[in-house]
Amino acid sequence: MNDNILVKVEHIKTYYPIKGGFLRKTIGFVKAVDDVSFHIEKGETLGLVGESGCGKSTMGRTIVRLLQPTSGNIIFDGKNITSLRGKELRSMRKHFQMVFQDPYASLNPMQMVGDIVSEPIRNYTGRSLRETKDEVIHLLEKVGLPADAYSKYAHQFSGGQRQRIGIARALALKPKFIVADEPVSALDVSVQSQVLNLLKELQREFSLTYLFIAHDLSVVKHMSDRIGVMYLGHIMELADKKSLYANPLHPYTQALVSAIPVPDPQKKKERIVLQGDVPSPIHPPKGCVFHTRCPVARRECQEVPPVLKEVRDGHQVACHLY
Ligand code: SF4
Repeated sequence: MNDNILVKVEHIKTYYPIKGGFLRKTIGFVKAVDDVSFHIEKGETLGLVGESGCGKSTMGRTIVRLLQPTSGNIIFDGKNITSLRGKELRSMRKHFQMVFQDPYASLNPMQMVGDIVSEPIRNYTGRSLRETKDEVIHLLEKVGLPADAYSKYAHQFSGGQRQRIGIARALALKPKFIVADEPVSALDVSVQSQVLNLLKELQREFSLTYLFIAHDLSVVKHMSDRIGVMYLGHIMELADKKSLYANPLHPYTQALVSAIPVPDPQKKKERIVLQGDVPSPIHPPKGCVFHTRCPVARRECQEVPPVLKEVRDGHQVACHLY
């Protein structure tokens, strides 16, 4: 494997079983992630974007092994972590962390900030109380919180500050990789860019690699080096951000990009409005999963699933048009 690759996912499927009937037997599956492959280089931010329910959060949680994939492989820093359990998984966990969407739900409001941020240090290292406290105060400063936050409760902080606490906690074990799952979508617009810029600064300072998940294309563009567009459990297109925004190839990406407002009112662009709703991931359409909404679908699209392939330097697309 290329030495510069930190994370590689190969043909990952993550299905949620649907239980039904008197005996609660498995009667079907929600195919949340359905055969996804990509890699993330060291120090890079890969953005994952798509509408809610497209599988991007499931993908993030699968990589950090909060979810067990149904099949496929996750290679982290050269090691296959797909089936790790118990002690081995625990010891790998310190290298990858997650920042969650909702800082209100992900932090216990009645816990002191010092306890929240020091918990991973206490659980994973043999540091003394004094060393742990010093480290936590250092982390709080790094994320822009005052040292006296240490002895306050999480509920005493605003949404943006709580997200900073969540970020400090994610950094506590000096991870190499962070999955940030919609880290600003629950925050006021006025504080969103502060938290995004903080994530960027921390990335530079700690040489972090990010998987950045969001539904908002402008936010993903601001943060990412490369971007993968997900739809119904599949990657539709993956490219560096410049080519993705300047020259989207997939009809779904074209529709998403056309909906981004342009700051210059003189520059008009035609918005592509997709008809219909996203189909259920329990019964995804045959062939190309996007064919029920694709404005340029052909007959073969209803039968043959397109494969994600490179059509230009580093620009991959899953569509029969290419
Ligand atoms: Fe549209 Fe067909 Fe391409 Fe799917 S494969 S995006 S249905 S043209």
